[in-house]
Amino acid sequence: MATKKDFYEILGIQKNASPEEIKKAYKKLAVKWHPDRWGDKSEAEQKTAEENFKEVAEAYEVLSDPNKRQRYDQFGHEGLNGAGGFGGGGFNAEDLFRDIFGSFHAGGGGGFDDFFSGFGGFGGGGTRQKPVYKGNDLRRRVELDLSEIVHGTTKKFKIKKDVQCTHCHGNGSEDGKTETCSQCSGTGYITTRRQSILGMMQSQSVCPKCQGMGQIIKNKCRTCGGDGVVQGEEVVEVKFPAGMADGMALNVEGKGNAGPHGGINGDLQIVVKEKEHPELVRDGINIVYNLLLTVPQAILGCQLEVPTIDGKAKITIEPGTQPGTVLRLRGKGIPSLNTGYRYGQSVCGDELINISIFVPKNLSKEEKEIIKKLENADSFKANDSDKKSIFQRFKAMFTK
Ligand SMILES: [Zn+2]
Ligand SMILES: [Zn+2]
Repeated sequence: MATKKDFYEILGIQKNASPEEIKKAYKKLAVKWHPDRWGDKSEAEQKTAEENFKEVAEAYEVLSDPNKRQRYDQFGHEGLNGAGGFGGGGFNAEDLFRDIFGSFHAGGGGGFDDFFSGFGGFGGGGTRQKPVYKGNDLRRRVELDLSEIVHGTTKKFKIKKDVQCTHCHGNGSEDGKTETCSQCSGTGYITTRRQSILGMMQSQSVCPKCQGMGQIIKNKCRTCGGDGVVQGEEVVEVKFPAGMADGMALNVEGKGNAGPHGGINGDLQIVVKEKEHPELVRDGINIVYNLLLTVPQAILGCQLEVPTIDGKAKITIEPGTQPGTVLRLRGKGIPSLNTGYRYGQSVCGDELINISIFVPKNLSKEEKEIIKKLENADSFKANDSDKKSIFQRFKAMFTK
């Protein structure tokens, strides 16, 4: 047998994931890869989906069982040989899927966002499963300033959204009772046969009476009208890691609209917009500041303060500093996303201080005379080595 992938990796969870996390991860992936969703895709894609679907089912099968999980943690895949339940017959990904999602199949009508009904079967056993509902994903924008981007931040959002109806706990029934749909006898689909030139043709479609759920709610919940969701709001706290950039979106799982009929929640996506800083400009992981020196400051040198993300920093300007010189405050830039590095560590980006020199225009008569005296001074002219070093820097700007 080929090398098998790690079960935790397959479900995208940590080794210490709780049973709830395991179930959640399975649900999400099982819905994603369910073969019925891929029916109209290419054969290769269908095959991949089917393999992934089986894979997540197998991973869930093991990790949701404390005994098997322990054995797997200790001995890996080897530890599961002969553990029964899967690998050799017995185990069916589709059955598992139905077991997990079976509880969602309360009856009721319409109003759902994402619906997929199972026809065409999987595993060749002629099995059919009922629909699973997923709430819509929601999108919000947030403006972060440079300091929040550099340090990371936590923000609270009041999100208006569909929430589960507390009156019926999401099942849509006033009295908790459902009855088997008379039109489809609870299967959720109806079969029609017709004679054609090719012989008897058989086709299946979603039962119009129960919309594929197989169950009908007699007394619809008076609060939600049978959908299992109502308009509400939730305050969601979102942690933004250091190093985010304009246009990036953060996905908060399960914080979107609640799924109708007890289905699964959509996600909440927060799109980041970077607020402009009055003095500092972001360039990738670096922060750039343009420092404007006076002519005497550039000639004589000086000490001064420049703004950083966290207050002012003292810097020294050497005598004879050329315009275009770039000074560097190490680590005073932006940490790379998801590295866990913190502002100020040398592994972060830097603050770059670009030197420019202000050349005055409106001089008084006396001032002009002073400058005139210097006009032909040798020290005011670049010699060959000055020209060379300035040219080198100029060239570097374009060949970076
Ligand atoms: Zn309700
Ligand atoms: Zn029906």
